Amino acid sequence: MAQIDTLPPLRDVIAAHGLNAKKSLGQNFLLDLNLTSRIARSAGDLEDCTVLEIGPGPGGLTRALLAAGARKVVAVEKDSRCLPALAEIAEHYPGRLEVIEGDALKLDPVALTGGGNVRIAANLPYNVGTQLLINWITTPEWPPFWSSLTLMFQKEVGERITAEPGSKAYGRLGVLAGWRCKGGILFDISPKAFTPPPKVTSAVVHLTPNLAPLPCDQRVLERVTAAAFGQRRKMLRASLKSLSPNAEELVRQAGLEPTARAEEIDIVGFVELANIFKDAQAV
Ligand code: SAM
Repeated sequence: MAQIDTLPPLRDVIAAHGLNAKKSLGQNFLLDLNLTSRIARSAGDLEDCTVLEIGPGPGGLTRALLAAGARKVVAVEKDSRCLPALAEIAEHYPGRLEVIEGDALKLDPVALTGGGNVRIAANLPYNVGTQLLINWITTPEWPPFWSSLTLMFQKEVGERITAEPGSKAYGRLGVLAGWRCKGGILFDISPKAFTPPPKVTSAVVHLTPNLAPLPCDQRVLERVTAAAFGQRRKMLRASLKSLSPNAEELVRQAGLEPTARAEEIDIVGFVELANIFKDAQAV
């Protein structure tokens, strides 16, 4: 692939700005611009949208998103050491990159992006990635402020997000994501592609909002799945007793077997359970 821009190679950027990776910030940098371009292309048509990127670091994915034509990238970075490197990218793409120094967990993504057509793309820091995803898929308003999520996680987390009932990876995250979103794992990325290499393989996950999820109170669904998967070896009649002494009867009313275990229940079943528990004011 030809060079994507005339900025210096990322290795030189890292050396020039002394960006030795910090484990505490989940810093595993992708320096191969072919790979970051592949991720940027997976995010869809960027020309009419604002891309929210969390954790740009030295800017590998940021550069790919801008080279792919993103109208605007809003990038939130916690590590102030990265800001001079990101300022060089902003200068190269006048008016198209806004860098915000801060903790993405504490900032309001809607206020940052100003609404409109927003896509989120990120090589997420492993220590906050799952929480950020949960925040984005549990917004009270649905459809949400974003039209797609293109995110890199540890592969094991990607598998939990996209897991089917009956599998070992199926749990709270899979139910929540499967209820509100469509999508899956696009491709894996070897540890060798990162500097420094992490211990595990990564995966790029692409999700779009399910525009008509089954009607359900999201907080109740979260409580029911938390109770059911919190004791996943137990039968539902036992694991849901923490929510109601009538758990067995309520599970039956939901059309499910009280002796079933959480991992056997599909998303429709969990929605039904949540609705029955809510009606019975058990949660
Ligand atoms: N996007 C770059 C890449 O692909 O090479 C860096 C990815 S690195 C896995 C994660 C980045 O997230 C780091 O730059 C780190 O400093 C940043 N980060 C960690 N915690 C953060 C937080 N709470 N809010 C914003 N950025 C964070």
